[in-house]
Amino acid sequence: MSNKIMTDKQTGEKHCRCFKRCGGCQLDEPYKDQLERKQQKADRMLSKFAPVNRILPMENPYNYRCKVQNIYGLDRSKRIISGVYQSSGQKIVAVDDCFLEDERAAPIVRSVKKLMKDMRIPPYDIRSGRSGRGILRHTLIRTSLSTGQVMLVLVTAGAMLPAKNNLVKAMRAAHPEITTIVQNICHDGMPLTLGERDIVLFGKGYIEDELCGCRFRISPASFYQVNPLQTEKLYSCAVEAAGISEGVRVIDAYCGTGTIGIICAKNGAEVTGVELNKSACRDAHKNAELNGLKNIKFFNDDAGKFMQAMASKGEGCDVLIMDPPRAGASREFIGCAGRLAPQKIVYVSCKIETLERDLKAFRREGYKVTYIQPVDMFPHTMGIETVCLLERKGEKNEAH
Ligand code: SAH
Repeated sequence: MSNKIMTDKQTGEKHCRCFKRCGGCQLDEPYKDQLERKQQKADRMLSKFAPVNRILPMENPYNYRCKVQNIYGLDRSKRIISGVYQSSGQKIVAVDDCFLEDERAAPIVRSVKKLMKDMRIPPYDIRSGRSGRGILRHTLIRTSLSTGQVMLVLVTAGAMLPAKNNLVKAMRAAHPEITTIVQNICHDGMPLTLGERDIVLFGKGYIEDELCGCRFRISPASFYQVNPLQTEKLYSCAVEAAGISEGVRVIDAYCGTGTIGIICAKNGAEVTGVELNKSACRDAHKNAELNGLKNIKFFNDDAGKFMQAMASKGEGCDVLIMDPPRAGASREFIGCAGRLAPQKIVYVSCKIETLERDLKAFRREGYKVTYIQPVDMFPHTMGIETVCLLERKGEKNEAH
């Protein structure tokens, strides 16, 4: 069964028949109610630390996702379908059209399905185990609003991809907007993960995007924020809260492709970035070059271990910017951050529950929260992104 999007003629609001089964959205209510719900949650959980600013909304809360993933399978009549796994199991829910996604993605997915049929490329059957049947596991499409570049990643269960050259030729003919096509080989692992090996079939193997006046390269496996319009707002809040000026020493922890640190470096800061994912870290190095910056360096390491090494060498920094994954920061990280004693900590969070836990821990390290700004990065989901500023209490702070 395929889904259908309905648009309310009066309000312009969209509703999707797939809402409950797909799981991509959690909220099916007017956008202003969604914002109110998120504001209340942020107030409830964070106002004990400092006043919470009004959440920054999207002007048009649709088609914002610049990263789109689809799983392929067969329906009962052996027709190729694409969509997501049902949350309860390994059955695929067909999703043909999604109002969260960049509108350039769905036509590409439709072409992939057509070509799979024409070229006899069977979808991989996850239930068949490691020696599994089939070839195409999923696709990842990344798009850039600012540069217009589009990347298609075909994730296959093994190295074999029949009629590879013809497939690429046909995709390019049907979609001249695609600037690069990559095959990623993923032998096993969780659904939607990427394997270690990329084979560039066409183009550069990555796309470039522009945010806050800087240019960034994004490889298939690198983390990159999915909503570019709101990301600019988020980064601007973070950089402003950090109070960047010439020569300020900044650590950008959990830096991904180096985005926030690079914006700080462009404003004159001396930046050290740390990131665990190899491919993101490689992109970060390239991004520093791309932006002509010499005042930023990156380390491929666990943020906690890196901070510990810095603390035990007696090193310090003026501003710590941290943007951890949903799990938040480790105890070790927070303890070492306290020992490094930056004047300011800018915490960018994608999960309010772990943010609350970590803010309490930072309070014990002598920090006071002075600014809380939620940003609506993921309309129609319950996700809330937040920027917080923490400042060191006591003498050091007053002398500054
Ligand atoms: N600041 C970046 C990335 C934020 S996402 C941006 O805005 O684009 C969080 C990043 O933390 C991811 O790139 C992830 O690979 C990285 N990460 C996860 N665990 C980590 C750890 N223990 N140490 C360092 N980086 C980690």
